[in-house]
Amino acid sequence: MSHEKYKRIVLKLSGEAMAGDLGTGIHPPTVQDISREVKAAHDLGVEIAIVVGGGNIWRGKTGEELGMDRAQADYMGMLATIMNALALQDALENIDVPTRVQTSMEMKEVAELYIRRRAERHLDKGRVVILAGGTGNPYFSTDTAAALRAAELEADAILMAKNNVDGIYSSDPHLNKDAEKYEHLTYLDIINKDLKVMDTTASSLSMDNKIPLVVFNLNEKGNIKRAVLGDDIGTTVSD
Ligand code: UDP
Repeated sequence: MSHEKYKRIVLKLSGEAMAGDLGTGIHPPTVQDISREVKAAHDLGVEIAIVVGGGNIWRGKTGEELGMDRAQADYMGMLATIMNALALQDALENIDVPTRVQTSMEMKEVAELYIRRRAERHLDKGRVVILAGGTGNPYFSTDTAAALRAAELEADAILMAKNNVDGIYSSDPHLNKDAEKYEHLTYLDIINKDLKVMDTTASSLSMDNKIPLVVFNLNEKGNIKRAVLGDDIGTTVSD
């Protein structure tokens, strides 16, 4: 019998995670690896909603820096997350994990529209719900979408899977060998220390709704399952 700590989670996967060594775009073998990790957690009986990012394809801020209208560029970023969601769905369904993609903006030929009650129903039935399109609003991030959906779906935690970093550090551990790893933080610490883990909107939303966050390394095999079981594998953040 498994003793998972969390019964219902929102897993935040960055777009970068989909790119693997390519650095940008979608690398199907990497998406397949991630799907096997998700399946290992799903096999415990945990209800899983996944919020996918889109930074591997497009970020609104980059468009703005290059002269685009910000909102227009942000809508492109939201569309990028839908491409990632479809790749993830493909890989999960190939290993017999039942899924539904729900988008925050209507795209009825490829996915359902996000409807909270319907998402809950899918989760109850053991389907992995992949939430794409972010919040559906420009000027927001998929981290904020994860915090928002976690609150709406009454998730027990947000699991934030990072690429090649095993938690939250005082500064970038790849650039600064003296960077200090934190075992536990509060959301106020993240905001006050300006730690680059999630943006302020996402942090304050999670803090207000008292949703714990676990930040861990996606690239270590078995880590999503370990995070669900409550093993000490990264940094935990609470209010
Ligand atoms: N985005 C947005 N509203 C949202 C979520 C995302 O406008 O609610 C856009 C924004 O342009 C962002 C892009 O989609 O840069 C990709 O999302 P994000 O940067 O959060 O992806 P990640 O960093 O997780 O790959």
